[in-house]
Amino acid sequence: MEQTLDRIPCAAKGCPRWASGFSRYCPSHRYRDHYTRDPHGRILRKRQDLGPYRELVKQYLPGWMQHPAMQRAVGYLGRLLVDGSTYSGSSQTHRAIAKELRRLRMDGATGETMLAKLLAVAGYAHFNQRTWDDGPCHTVNLAHHMLRAVPRPGAAKMPGPAVYALGQEVREVLGVLLGQFWQAVERDVTKQARARDAINAELSVRPLGDG
Ligand SMILES: [Zn+2]
Repeated sequence: MEQTLDRIPCAAKGCPRWASGFSRYCPSHRYRDHYTRDPHGRILRKRQDLGPYRELVKQYLPGWMQHPAMQRAVGYLGRLLVDGSTYSGSSQTHRAIAKELRRLRMDGATGETMLAKLLAVAGYAHFNQRTWDDGPCHTVNLAHHMLRAVPRPGAAKMPGPAVYALGQEVREVLGVLLGQFWQAVERDVTKQARARDAINAELSVRPLGDG
């Protein structure tokens, strides 16, 4: 006899599946909830989600690289690769972070490649504030993508709590810089758009060569 009476629906809003085992969620929402700390959370996709922001980072970062704050940020991330994290919680989490940072370094990651990844994720958040929550899932995304500053063929998945702890650490140190970068980009993009609109407005009043 099937124990259908014991079944409860998945606790994620709008999910039609059954909760599994002792979880409040179905397997798919349980995984999301565990890794991103939000049953509806997701990992931003490298191309579809982050593509436009990676392009803007490529365009703007070199010009601002010499700013002392940028230099310090790159220095901080470079030291993270060498000295490891300052995370002081569970030793299992600490080991997982240290192992991933070692791998990143061996694979050739630098402070600058890590910063570019963090900036792309921060850019998505900056320009999608209405649909993207700034909470723990965003913190996980920062670390998740920073850990992919270099390709990781065959590397095992880093446990969710370790990704989150690393994200918190990086966000605490670089949060203001990441925010200011995108405010400055937005101002510049707006300025360009205004200049373009003003030029086009003049042309629509009197096209070139028109008397
Ligand atoms: Zn579900």
